[in-house]
Amino acid sequence: MPNLPSRALRVLAIPAFENNYLWLVHDGVHAAVVDPGAAAPVQAALAQHHLTLTAILLTHHHPDHIGGVPALLAAHHVPVFGPRHDGIAAVTLALGDAERITVPGLGLALRVLDVPGHTLGHIAYVSETAGAPWLFCGDTLFGGGCGRLFEGTPAQLRDSLARLGALPGDTEVYCAHEYTLANLRFAQAVEPGNPAIGRRIALEAAKRERGQPTIPSTIDLENSTNPFLRYREAEIAEQLVKAGRLAPDAEPLQAFAALRTWKNSF
Ligand SMILES: [Zn+2]
Repeated sequence: MPNLPSRALRVLAIPAFENNYLWLVHDGVHAAVVDPGAAAPVQAALAQHHLTLTAILLTHHHPDHIGGVPALLAAHHVPVFGPRHDGIAAVTLALGDAERITVPGLGLALRVLDVPGHTLGHIAYVSETAGAPWLFCGDTLFGGGCGRLFEGTPAQLRDSLARLGALPGDTEVYCAHEYTLANLRFAQAVEPGNPAIGRRIALEAAKRERGQPTIPSTIDLENSTNPFLRYREAEIAEQLVKAGRLAPDAEPLQAFAALRTWKNSF
């Protein structure tokens, strides 16, 4: 198969469960699916768009990201790319930081980033193909927020998010959940003086009213509105101190950790 894309690549959102997005990358003929937590909606999308599955890409081991893999493999003989260190038995091509792959059938070049925190082995995929500035980041960076700390430390998650925040600003962020509006309500509470958050809430709410996903966002948009990339801002620290969640002389990492803890109960 050629390594350069011969047809235009697109990303299709497949909604699943309450608020998951399974991402189908395709060129009109072949398709790869990212984090297929369920097989049936993937099969339906493949049939509807007359696509042949050529690869499965996984970011981490949680069931809502891998649950559909056995049924998809029963129907399609395709490689399963996934993290080397997240304990997923179905992975046939294990990946770690800085490794590069070309998605079979699509010619899509991806670079892997280790982004521990939500899980210890979590990886993200960054496209290196021209015209496809995409990041598939699972449950690490969300629209306006980030994934919960299930396995890693606050420092690990902070560093993982900082790596994603340092990607080119026009990188499109394909995360795995539609949590954006709830995340932005929290963002506004912890940084009420940031007008970009209110503007974004209006835009994202209008998308939801039209039945559209808020995802993808962009790295620029996340850097201007996402408190987990902005935890060094003085106003965020002030709000944390005012809420009794941070000591006045605390380090930025403590502010990040306090934000993540507060969001759990917000
Ligand atoms: Zn998860």
